[in-house]
Amino acid sequence: MTTDIKIHVLHTGLVKVDRALPFHDYYRNPLAFTGLFRSHVNQVTLPVSSYLIEHPKGLVLIDTGWNEVVRQSQWRELGPQVKINKAYLPAGWSVREQLATLGYQPSDIDYLMLSHLHSDHASGLKLVKDAKHILTSEPEWQAAQHDKMRYISKMWDGVNVQTFDYEHSQLGPFHQSFDLFGDGSVQFVATPGHSAGLSATIVTGKDGQEVVLAADVGYAQESWEKMVTPGIVVDRKAAIESLAWIKQEAAKPNVVEALANHDTKVMPHVITLSD
Ligand SMILES: [Zn+2]
Repeated sequence: MTTDIKIHVLHTGLVKVDRALPFHDYYRNPLAFTGLFRSHVNQVTLPVSSYLIEHPKGLVLIDTGWNEVVRQSQWRELGPQVKINKAYLPAGWSVREQLATLGYQPSDIDYLMLSHLHSDHASGLKLVKDAKHILTSEPEWQAAQHDKMRYISKMWDGVNVQTFDYEHSQLGPFHQSFDLFGDGSVQFVATPGHSAGLSATIVTGKDGQEVVLAADVGYAQESWEKMVTPGIVVDRKAAIESLAWIKQEAAKPNVVEALANHDTKVMPHVITLSD
């Protein structure tokens, strides 16, 4: 049995948004991120990533991209949110299709983790609802119950989502994280700001090499290089502190890759953390 950890970086959709949504501080108009009253020239198309981690202790999927329904009707999946983000899912790109290509069924997934519950991360949930455990952080779950503007609750209707509480730790901007296997190899780190309970993930190999999956703390590597927070935030101060933590983490010599979820410069690839 191999003790390598393999991370498959997958693109499980594309999202078209106003330029001000990924990069808040570049634009002064406070409503720019909504794209309302702005021309198509301001639109950018970004990848929507998910990550499949083949770990000796189990198969872990982080995020789910778009549901296949968006191929027929974006409106049916997103409702009025289509004004802010448009969803595209080319043939073969859904999380279900990509798992199948890698030889897996949804029921093979031991842990499906949702970094947060925004639509571009949770829409594909029902395609992989047969995963053994479906997780998100308690603060994210609570926020999603009350905020009807940023979340679409039908995406998890009837799905058994379990929540975890962050524990006090040395990790993250607020010293809060959750250790999935209890051995420090996969840790979900509280990085709030873009959403209330957003988790980044740190994957650590036996030799101490690390991969940082920054979720939407920043939309691209450029975000932490230039300290540009996302246009959509619930707490700008926390978003800056979370981004600063990613910046510091990404610069560590043992970090082999630090990846933002929506970075146009990141292509699908495989990362192996070996002994
Ligand atoms: Zn996102």
